[in-house]
Amino acid sequence: MTVDSALRSPIMHSPSTKDVKALRFIEEMTRNVDFVQKKVIREILRRNSETEYLKRFGLKGFTDRKAFKTKVPVVTYDDLKPEIQRIANGDRSMILSSHPITEFLTSSGTSAGERKLMPTIEEDMDRRQLLYSLLMPVMNLYVPGLDKGKALYFLFVKTESKTPGGLPARPVLTSYYKSEQFKRRPYDPYNVYTSPNEAILCPDSSQSMYTQMLCGLLMRHEVLRLGAVFASGLLRAIGFLQTNWKELANDISTGTLSSRISDPAIKESMSKILTKPDQELADFITSVCGQDNNWEGIITKIWPNTKYLDVIVTGAMAQYIPMLEYYSGGLPMACTMYASSESYFGINLKPMCKPSEVSYTIMPNMAYFEFLPHEVPTGKSELVELADVEVGKEYELVITTYAGLNRYRVGDILQVTGFYNSAPQFKFVRRKNVLLSIESDKTDEAELQKAVENASVLLGEQGTRVIEYTSYAETKTIPGHYVIYWELLVKDQTNPPNDEVMARCCLEMEESLNSVYRQSRVADKSIGPLEIRVVKNGTFEELMDYAISRGASINQYKVPRCVSFTPIMELLDSRVVSTHFSPALPHWSPERRR
Ligand code: AMP
Repeated sequence: MTVDSALRSPIMHSPSTKDVKALRFIEEMTRNVDFVQKKVIREILRRNSETEYLKRFGLKGFTDRKAFKTKVPVVTYDDLKPEIQRIANGDRSMILSSHPITEFLTSSGTSAGERKLMPTIEEDMDRRQLLYSLLMPVMNLYVPGLDKGKALYFLFVKTESKTPGGLPARPVLTSYYKSEQFKRRPYDPYNVYTSPNEAILCPDSSQSMYTQMLCGLLMRHEVLRLGAVFASGLLRAIGFLQTNWKELANDISTGTLSSRISDPAIKESMSKILTKPDQELADFITSVCGQDNNWEGIITKIWPNTKYLDVIVTGAMAQYIPMLEYYSGGLPMACTMYASSESYFGINLKPMCKPSEVSYTIMPNMAYFEFLPHEVPTGKSELVELADVEVGKEYELVITTYAGLNRYRVGDILQVTGFYNSAPQFKFVRRKNVLLSIESDKTDEAELQKAVENASVLLGEQGTRVIEYTSYAETKTIPGHYVIYWELLVKDQTNPPNDEVMARCCLEMEESLNSVYRQSRVADKSIGPLEIRVVKNGTFEELMDYAISRGASINQYKVPRCVSFTPIMELLDSRVVSTHFSPALPHWSPERRR
């Protein structure tokens, strides 16, 4: 059933006026992709062709897309860093955008170890809001009755900082939850959350999580959908319940809030929610959560009316699907949107489809989109328009935004799966150059290499060297953590590195990783201590033999710097001689290092 046919179908429940308006908007956007894209780029150029950046490329006064495409280069973040830095330092002249940059959104993508800063202008909030407003009308076509209950969403704000020039720098969702649009959102029966704003907005993630879980438990029969932005967040909430259910049950049985909650705004709002003891509910939670070895289907046991999980399980998050299936007893997982700090991109028009079939339809009004054919040497290939991409092909997403990113490589690889009207639909294939990811952290090969180098210096005193390494994102435990396999060349066999030295190596690796990793370790506690597993000598040669036996070429064989294939994991794990964990937290502060 498409949005269009649903609009006309006599068998579907009749959508509300608000939903009809949203669905019509989707129809209009997807039928006129190229027309809308032309309009968007014309409008962006009308505003921004007088900016310092576009004038530099001779675009002064031009508003047509052909001139734009021939004159303006395709760039990466590092190309734009000087301009971004000037704006961050307080230069208010028209550098990238004719509209004032109001804040920087801190991407989970990093450059030189620090989060990338994405410029944004005031009206971008409305564009994001518009995309959000399309989600429920689409969902309502597939799941009726969502106005009859609530959504238990685990939503969090993160620490924010200010640039030297005084602009806020914070993640896009923190910016959104703190906005008036979110805080003063009008009542909408389809978007009633169990979590009070005060809990979502509490900067202490532990108090925030505790309160959100408590509210979810108190309103367990009203909960119709359960979610977090990414799968890792929802699993973290389950992990939190695992360690804290006794305290939560105690609050419910006494009708009082735990002393761990010190935030005055939360206390005030909870005084209206946790009003009286409920021994029956406390007993129920104790009986269900107390079965340590039987948490299978816990979500449906506690929240029996849940119709689906609202959580992104595409891209790096696909690794969490089996665990979510386990805890939810196989509930559908809806991946509703595809977005980033640079711009929000699109929505899933079939949100109840299987995770492996998810495709996102880019909304052509959000930004100007171009597509760089993937795996074709740059320079030899033309960028393709949104309306002209071909089914089956893979592309890297390139965007031009109202806020002043011009032909910017997002770093996402997408594959065209089909069309809805004239709008192409994309499967998220992967993020370029990402080796390891537990939640929003994205560690690339160069970062891992540097971390191994820095850590192995600590072995140098004993003349021991790391001769090979590979890595693995261990996500079966909550929180997940990085595992690094090391094969060592120990000079003095009688004196191999002891656990203390190896543990210091673990910590040194963590210190060397990017700020998103360290923030997740320190502030969010969403990544556990890094682990080094030392393997027996000759293990990496066996790994090569295995790859060659499966058809790899001897000449071209390279040690994979990240592994996930079960037989390889089994081989590595069967050769482990010792394991070591980081003994402390690495350094992290909201301030940037540079
Ligand atoms: P950030 O800039 O930190 O907001 O991260 C944005 C990135 O997260 C995108 O460029 C994608 O790589 C990834 N992402 C966002 N939405 C999805 C999705 N629905 N599926 C897979 N990856 C996603």
